[in-house]
Amino acid sequence: MRGLIIGRFQPFHLGHMSVIKKIVKECDTIIISIGSAQYSHTLENPFTAGERYLMISKTLEKEKILNCCLVPVEDVNRYDVWVSHVEALTPKFDVVYTNNPLTKRLFLEKGYRVKGMPMYDRTIYSGMEIRRRIWRNENWEKLVPGQVARVIKEIDGVKRLKTLAKTDIYAPENRVASLMFEKNVTVSVAESCTGGLVSHMLTNVPDSSRYFTEGRIVYSDSAKKMLGVSEKTIEAFGNVSPQVSLEIAKKIREKTKTDIGLGITGFAGPSGDAGRVYIALVSGKEKICRSFKFTGSREEVKERAAKEALKILKSYLEKHE
Ligand code: ATP
Ligand code: MG
Repeated sequence: MRGLIIGRFQPFHLGHMSVIKKIVKECDTIIISIGSAQYSHTLENPFTAGERYLMISKTLEKEKILNCCLVPVEDVNRYDVWVSHVEALTPKFDVVYTNNPLTKRLFLEKGYRVKGMPMYDRTIYSGMEIRRRIWRNENWEKLVPGQVARVIKEIDGVKRLKTLAKTDIYAPENRVASLMFEKNVTVSVAESCTGGLVSHMLTNVPDSSRYFTEGRIVYSDSAKKMLGVSEKTIEAFGNVSPQVSLEIAKKIREKTKTDIGLGITGFAGPSGDAGRVYIALVSGKEKICRSFKFTGSREEVKERAAKEALKILKSYLEKHE
């Protein structure tokens, strides 16, 4: 019987290895398909298909598991043809091993037998956790087979991940997080028109509680007043104004005793001065307020504003010790 296992293996770790050791007992040949093969050099997919191939083949050689074949498979962004795409690239197989619900569904629909695999301590044996540990300089080597650690070092993978963590434009929160850790500072956010999106982004990173203290959604005027924004400021300048965003940032910082406070107020649209957003950052060292006029739907305005807030925080952190 031939079994197929599909993964991105970014990188190949001991969780994958435990599965392969199990499959070896059930199948005479294992086909390991290296998915998303066309990607490399991003935080999500740092290693090339060739590098992943080397990590896996060296490990299997060392473990004396010889009845395996490795096949890199690029993504096709059409699920209805994906199984045929895999079939066209790999030797024939009878059973598919996967825990991914979509992969399971797609192969089941084509008549394959699909088996789940027991999870081997998923809290630490996960690609994402290992990538994070590598760029954060934490202990990662014991989570991967020795041969994998060797390949990562050979290709200078640690440095690659660290550089990506600083520059990956697709994950601005990762860059902010690494700076927050590095500078050992804390932040709280009070946001109106972004409805919690900035807090969401800032807490997307594991261990964010080390830098993120509190996020409040001060949507209505009464919520802003409850935070401590003065009625006078709102009356004199309007609830969407630089003055109010600065006061929001100042008050949330005071209330939660953080190094930095972020305040956001604006019109998400479509009515009023749609897309007008003020983002303020207040710390012991600086008070910044920037005005934006975004275009797009409500959701797009919210997302653009949240990303700009992260950028403001990022440049502040880059500038100050
Ligand atoms: P990422 O966190 O980057 O998604 P991953 O650890 O989930 O990485 P994949 O390459 O996505 O690794 O997974 C390939 C296959 O291995 C999937 O079917 C996945 O469920 C399985 N797998 C991943 N980690 C473990 C583990 N700790 N124990 C058992 N199976 C695992
Ligand atoms: Mg996965």
